Amino acid sequence: MTYVPHIDELACAAHGDCQDIAPDVFRVDDIAVVIGTGPDDLILKAAQACPSAAITVVDSTSGETIYP
Ligand code: SF4
Repeated sequence: MTYVPHIDELACAAHGDCQDIAPDVFRVDDIAVVIGTGPDDLILKAAQACPSAAITVVDSTSGETIYP
């Protein structure tokens, strides 16, 4: 669990896809917020599924941007 998601609040359109895929990591009210951690592959999957490309995933160990 080294991947950390970041939400672009201006890009998020509250579709809810991220919460559907990883409900322990994302909660969507007016916009999505990060509420926890989860498996790296699940966080990446949620980011890739975001229709607004509002989720950036960073490897907290290396500092590398994993997605996009
Ligand atoms: S899937 Fe993307 S646009 Fe939709 S709520 Fe999550 S971050 Fe926001």
